[in-house]
Amino acid sequence: MSVNFLKYLPGRVIWRMPFRFNVANAINPSYTLRCVLYHDISDTTSTYTNGLGVTVSKKSFENDLRFLAKHYTPVTLDEALNPPKDPKKNYRPVLLTFDDAYASVATEAAPICQKYGIPAVFFVSARFIGNQDLAMDNLICHVANTRGYDAINKAASEAAKSPAKLNDLSEACGDFLPRVWGEQRETFRQGLADAAGRSLKEMAEEAGLYISPQQLRSLASFNFEIGNHTYSHVYGRNLAGNDFAEEIGRNKSVLESISGKTIRTFSAPYGSAIDLPGRLVEYLRQLKHESAFLVESSINNPRTDPFRLLRVSVQVSNNADLFSELEIMPRLRSIRDALFRRQGNVTPAASQARVAAD
Ligand SMILES: [Zn+2]
Repeated sequence: MSVNFLKYLPGRVIWRMPFRFNVANAINPSYTLRCVLYHDISDTTSTYTNGLGVTVSKKSFENDLRFLAKHYTPVTLDEALNPPKDPKKNYRPVLLTFDDAYASVATEAAPICQKYGIPAVFFVSARFIGNQDLAMDNLICHVANTRGYDAINKAASEAAKSPAKLNDLSEACGDFLPRVWGEQRETFRQGLADAAGRSLKEMAEEAGLYISPQQLRSLASFNFEIGNHTYSHVYGRNLAGNDFAEEIGRNKSVLESISGKTIRTFSAPYGSAIDLPGRLVEYLRQLKHESAFLVESSINNPRTDPFRLLRVSVQVSNNADLFSELEIMPRLRSIRDALFRRQGNVTPAASQARVAAD
């Protein structure tokens, strides 16, 4: 029996029932805003994305949007943050979001969003706009796919000055990467580029993964808002001192100068609560951000802090599983987290964030 079968089983059973949304509501009626997250919408992967878990096919994405348009009220960021005082019966607001800087958001996703009348927020790391540089996750993925884990471990060992034994992308991007910062991170980056035998700029141009400035500007006409996702796509837990200006302030300024719009929302790369510490939220507030998003796949309710809104990263192949991801599993996690809190433990929600997915 597969893990997915068990994971989706309650949702699949409830999906077959009449009044399924009422049944879901009975589990926890306080769930208000649903937030969904995607990265790359494409029918193909390359050595730079294969295995990262960020790519969703166009057909799957369109199926998801058809489902959202039918069963939910897709909202803008403003509507998400200012819900109606007296919502109509069965009001289920959903906010569509994208992270990173994939060009496919403009070329593939935006026209599908327009077709279904669904607005979105696109959280961008500006360093990669125009394919001038390669993001660490894509670089690690490329080296793993083309040179294998011996090459990854050699670069990691040199950077950390201790032997590394990484076996998959989750360990390399989720466990090792947050442990190297500053010079060590740069040594790791260069070591990986050496292993690939190309400069980062050459690889970025070859991969052609990321959005151009013109494409970013064009998104305004698709009812997309642009958000902050740090300049270099870094773990928020590592930021201190000058890093805030370099990673948060600089990203906001560059995105504003390209888009001509005010940047007022943020999503934490990799999506865990530990990457959105109080000092980072304080800095976001100083720079006039009004909200921030995580990927902890639990529920938002009327008391949820607008600087800790939770999203669900979706990769499903049918409506029953999408229903499960959006309606059942977040509610079950909220019950689990409440039980943990009652017992005085730290909530395990952080472990739910899909490590390499964002
Ligand atoms: Zn990201």
